[in-house]
Amino acid sequence: MDDQQKIPQATAKRLPLYYRYLENLYGSGKARVSSTELSEAVKVDSATIRRDFSYFGALGRKGYGYDVQYLLSFFRKTLDQDETTHVILIGVGNLGTALLNYNFAKNNNTSIVKAFDNNEEMIGKEIGGVRVLSMDDLEKEVDDSIRAAIVAVPSSAAQGIADRLSKTAIQGILNFTPTRLTVPSHIRVHHIDLSIELQSLVYFLKHYPL
Ligand code: ATP
Repeated sequence: MDDQQKIPQATAKRLPLYYRYLENLYGSGKARVSSTELSEAVKVDSATIRRDFSYFGALGRKGYGYDVQYLLSFFRKTLDQDETTHVILIGVGNLGTALLNYNFAKNNNTSIVKAFDNNEEMIGKEIGGVRVLSMDDLEKEVDDSIRAAIVAVPSSAAQGIADRLSKTAIQGILNFTPTRLTVPSHIRVHHIDLSIELQSLVYFLKHYPL
């Protein structure tokens, strides 16, 4: 939804707070609420609440307050849309470490929730807030909440890992290795080969100068 992109981050962060309180109100049969009432309950000043709610298209009427049901249905939609897509990372080498430290969630609703490696020295470490797990536990750790895997292992290991991933709930692979992966038709593979991209840029600079 377009108008959701206009919601400032600070407002978005208060949303779950409002949501929880409004759900309680709704549960107790209240149809409307004033910004002063809300302000006291959630400990956010009422001017901020009014400004926040104006982003939701909820203007509130003097002497009436806000319609609880309207706000609730708006929040439900928005919070649902804001749900983060969970991704795993396999191979915590130089590239994998950089990807873990890079905060994907800042730019979109995607977050690396688990990382895997077969190097004993890496297992158990926490990088960018993500725990590195053993490859032995891959199938056990990948549940239905995980949609995609980023593969940043050496080329020779990539196909074997893709085969294992194919048997999990994963639907997509972001392949950072030069290997062309063979996967079942229900899995989408996107391929990023940074060295080829760089080589190709240099080639174009040489042969097709702007
Ligand atoms: P890069 O810069 O390519 O990320 P690197 O030079 O740090 O990598 P690589 O040898 O490319 O290291 O390996 C990347 C990571 O993948 C390492 O942490 C390595 O332990 C891990 N790895 C290697 N083989 C496997 C495998 N079969 N399963 C899981 N992880 C693996």
